[in-house]
Amino acid sequence: MTTTPKDITQVVSRHLCTGCGACAALFPDAIRMTDTQDVARRPSLTATGEVARLVAKEALAVCPGVGADHRALHGPKGPADEIDRDWGPVMEIWEGYAADAEVRFRGSSGGAATALSLFAVEKAGFSGVTHVAADPADARLNRAVISRDRAGLLRGAGSRYAPASPAERLDSVAAASGPVLFTGKPCDVAAAKAAARRDRRIDNKLGLTLAIFCAGTPSLSATGDLLSRLGVPASAPVRKLVYRGEGWPGEMKAQWLDAKGALRDSKRVSYGEGWGKVLQAKRQWRCHLCVDHTGEFADISVGDPWHEPPKGAREKGRSLIVVRSERGRRFVAEARRQGYLVLEPRERGILYRAQPNLMTTRGAVWGRKLALRLAGLAVPRTPGDGAAFAWLSALTARQRLQSVLGTWKRVARRGLWRAERAGEA
Ligand SMILES: Cc1cc2nc3c(=O)[nH]c(=O)nc-3n(C[C@H](O)[C@H](O)[C@H](O)COP(=O)(O)OP(=O)(O)OC[C@H]3O[C@@H](n4cnc5c(N)ncnc54)[C@H](O)[C@@H]3O)c2cc1C
Ligand code: SF4
Ligand code: SF4
Repeated sequence: MTTTPKDITQVVSRHLCTGCGACAALFPDAIRMTDTQDVARRPSLTATGEVARLVAKEALAVCPGVGADHRALHGPKGPADEIDRDWGPVMEIWEGYAADAEVRFRGSSGGAATALSLFAVEKAGFSGVTHVAADPADARLNRAVISRDRAGLLRGAGSRYAPASPAERLDSVAAASGPVLFTGKPCDVAAAKAAARRDRRIDNKLGLTLAIFCAGTPSLSATGDLLSRLGVPASAPVRKLVYRGEGWPGEMKAQWLDAKGALRDSKRVSYGEGWGKVLQAKRQWRCHLCVDHTGEFADISVGDPWHEPPKGAREKGRSLIVVRSERGRRFVAEARRQGYLVLEPRERGILYRAQPNLMTTRGAVWGRKLALRLAGLAVPRTPGDGAAFAWLSALTARQRLQSVLGTWKRVARRGLWRAERAGEA
């Protein structure tokens, strides 16, 4: 039996779905995204019979869960140097922050993603920005939205460490009146690029892609664990939930309604405690097989400059900005010139110091995939990803062994040979 998924139902059942939402955007009348408790957002077929069979197969064309071809990122001779090999195309790197003080404050790092989005709609002629924001009715959940002004964009400032499907809005990109800036995690951007290859209407309107660095999406039940740590009663309506931002790296905190309908502030926990002790343990399985944590398929990617970490919880934020295409280079330069970003250039190799864990993660993924293949389980296909090289060069012999043996333990602990069955939240 081949383990390569033949349609998106198999992508889900074989634990490869990232939850991006692109399949639902492609076939809105036949596929819908659902919030699930223990994994992430997942597609389900609303069509039946032959139609369901056909769309489930056709949607594979835009699905990043099955993989992405990293060879397409480089010229015919492959990566230009070792930096491009290890991090995808890196034309320039900048460090800085949003010039708008509120955007900088509310942003996850330095508010660069929101500042670039603001520049897009205010000065660069974009008709909108697709991004995610907390659901106003239930802040545990995220919704994909299109924003056209500062107030709309500020809804999305600050990372949401919970399932989100920005590619669900790709249908609105196709119908937009002008260019659209697409924001998402690296897998979401890979989906947007695949959708643009398949549909000329999306290609014509996808004016820019912006990726945030991403170490993995925790499940909704991880957010439940966080809320319990914050002292929020289990059944209380949650009106605000902040994972990052309001200072760098910010604190995790919530606001909830008590039985009398009064708004109550929760306790706060540090970003380190919330991510390290609560959220990261419940990342969806697909994230453990991800080689692209820095948005290699995007025009621009943004992350944290961890090489100079903040001293407290509420420092003035800074972002690392990776320019990956000529279109991205012109956009960042213009946003800077027109006063939206305050930036200083950095050497391209700074990524090794800013995100030291990501090189070892890339190597470990090769070992994990080897273990899964030997166990007859499905893995994403990412030719040209440089993971084999990272496995040999960035990992010690012990880490190499661990990447294989540790995966077999996880397979047993998570029951990964069984089909993923996610109950609705
Ligand atoms: C799950 C997750 C894992 C992360 N892992 C890393 C990491 O390993 N290394 C690192 O440096 N940084 C990581 N980050 C932080 C992220 O890279 C920073 O938010 C980034 O630096 C952008 O900061 P900013 O201030 O420029 O963005 P902001 O101005 O705060 O804007 C953030 C943008 O990201 C969008 N967004 C927020 N959450 C999500 C989401 N879940 N899915 C899709 N889009 C979203 C918002 O809609 C908004 O457009 C992670 C974030 C998330 C959500
Ligand atoms: S990864 Fe995205 S496109 Fe693929 S099945 Fe999941 S939601 Fe659909
Ligand atoms: S770790 Fe990779 S697969 Fe998982 S959400 Fe982030 S970009 Fe997507």
